[in-house]
This record gives sequence, C-alpha cells and structure tokens, in this order.
Amino acid sequence: MFSVIILGAGKSVRAGQNKLNMFIGEETVLERTVSSFKRNPYISQVIIVGDYEKSDKFTVVKGGETRFQSVKNGLEAVTNNFVLIHDGARPFVSPELIDRVREGVAKHGSAIPVIPITDSIRGIDGEKIIVAPSRENIVFVQTPQGFKTQEIRLAYSRAKHTDYTDCSEVYLKNCGNPHIISGEDKNKKLTTEADLFGLNARVGIGSDLHRLVPLRKLVLGGIEIASDKGTLAHSDGDAVIHALIDAILTAIGETDIGTHFPDTDFKFKDIDSAVLLSSVMEMLEKKNYKIINTSITIILDSPKLKDYLPIMKVKLANILKISTDKIGISCKTTEGTAEDTVRANAVVVIS
Ligand code: MG
Repeated sequence: MFSVIILGAGKSVRAGQNKLNMFIGEETVLERTVSSFKRNPYISQVIIVGDYEKSDKFTVVKGGETRFQSVKNGLEAVTNNFVLIHDGARPFVSPELIDRVREGVAKHGSAIPVIPITDSIRGIDGEKIIVAPSRENIVFVQTPQGFKTQEIRLAYSRAKHTDYTDCSEVYLKNCGNPHIISGEDKNKKLTTEADLFGLNARVGIGSDLHRLVPLRKLVLGGIEIASDKGTLAHSDGDAVIHALIDAILTAIGETDIGTHFPDTDFKFKDIDSAVLLSSVMEMLEKKNYKIINTSITIILDSPKLKDYLPIMKVKLANILKISTDKIGISCKTTEGTAEDTVRANAVVVIS
C-alpha cells in the first residue's frame, strides 16, 4: 500500500493568499487535491504537511521552514513501504497519473512524472541572452513523485543542504537516478489567482423532448408538477434531468443517455430519473471532475412552473453537489406551436 504526502506549507505569496484555501466550485484547492488521492484504493494513508485542522480523513504534520524540511517532517509520519509526494497546489491530478506513478514505483523503485518543454529556453546574463541550449533532453518535472519509503528517507538523511527544488533532486543527489514516466498537461501547479479560472474546465450541452399525454405524471427536475397531462416515456420522462444527464455525459467525453440507460432495458421502465443522474454523477467524480454551474431552459406551454423552480433547484443542487445559486433555470413557452410537448436544454460547466 501507499502513503501520500501532500505539501500544503508553501507561503503562496505569488497567489496573493493561501491558494490552497481558494475555491474551485464548492471545494478548496486542498480539498480537491486530497479527494483525488482518497479515491485511489491503493492509498491507505494521506498526510498533509502544513497548518491545517485535524480531520478523520488525513493525518496533519507541521510544515517546515523549507520544502525540504516539510517533506522530511511528512516522511516521519509515513507508515507504508511506498510513498507518493505531491504539491497541494496541483488539484487536477488524474486517477490515471496516480496509477502510472504507483505502477512506476512498483516496477522501477521510483517514478517522476515529466512533460516535454514546448517553449524555447535561453541562458541569460543580465539583460542579454548568451546561450541557446537545446531543449531535447530537458523536461518539466511534476508531482506526485513516487518512491520506496526507505530509499527516499535515506536520501533525505544523507542530504548536505536544504536548497533542493523537489524530491527527485534529493533522490538524484543522494540515492540514485530516479525513473521518469509521462506526466500530464492538466496537472498544472496553481501559482497565481488567474490559474484558477477556466483551468481544466469543460462544457457539456444536453437537450430532451417528450410528448405530453393524458393519464401520465409530469416530472421535471425531479419534482412532480400538478398537470392534467404528463410525459410519454419509458422512464419517468423527466426532460430536465435527461438534458442534464446528456450535458454531463458529453462534457466528460462519454456516449449519450440512450447508450448508458437504453429504453429497451426493462430495469429502466418508469425509473426515477434522479437515480440515473446520481449514477452519472458517480461517473463524473470517478474522472475527478465536479460541476461548477448549470444553466437550464424549460420549454412548456402549461402549467406555469414559476412556483416550482425554488424546490426544483434544491432537488437538483443535492444531486449535483452544488449550491442553488449555481443553478439557473429559465422558462419559455412554445407560443402554442407545440402544446403537447415539453422540451429542456441544459448546459453544464465542469472542472
Ligand atoms: Mg428523455
């Protein structure tokens, strides 16, 4: 099993405030980072280094004056044979990258994620460029970096000074040549407030239409609406939730609602669509995404929905795990051109 040390002790001066306490959607950067690792079944211990309140979700260890000292403090608390060391300011680390690092450590004893340099690099002296080195054998280094606990502890104990920029350097200078694996672009380290906006965001759009017939229930946004007509559908015919499901599925690069919940499958007969939306939320969370906000349009001639919207928002907010102010719902009519239909459109932003 693995322990993970998450470094949260940095001063964050470049971001103007402690960037780990800034919000991405409903969570702080640190909470998002922690949940990325908590989901991995091979990680049994999460250690946070820094000035944080104790929690049953992780161990808290005091930070040091330097990154070097913070890692050293974290290493003392590790109880597993293998350890991942990660910057708290990289909240978008994917489940796949965590697994690649884990497998790299199991196979090679260490694993350092790197990405190629795309910009040119130049050596300068004062205000002049004096050398133009090739970037061929140069890479950007990311975290999580994985090691055998015993080896990285040994490297830290042998270190002669504390000015190393990361663990791979401490390992290189005091233990051996660390093994590299491929990192990922979206695993960016947040350094400025501007980094938080739009980074890693994706958009999804969904649309649904149902015919209205007598003697059926009308359910929209998980709420039953008093109406003399309801939707004709295999499920409960909740056009709002169906539009939301397609918006989320397409945002995460999945196929649409019909392939996941086919209307030929008897188990979806008259099903509460809120149950389907919850299972789509699980798919989203597995990919380490969260909903940021959603904008919904409902097109229906009658009945009027205005009085139902506040409760509809509460219902959806609970399933989507966002606050009601992140949900916008507008209502339109067909102006009598399609009285026997209900249509819904939904846009979601995820990050
Ligand atoms: Mg539908």
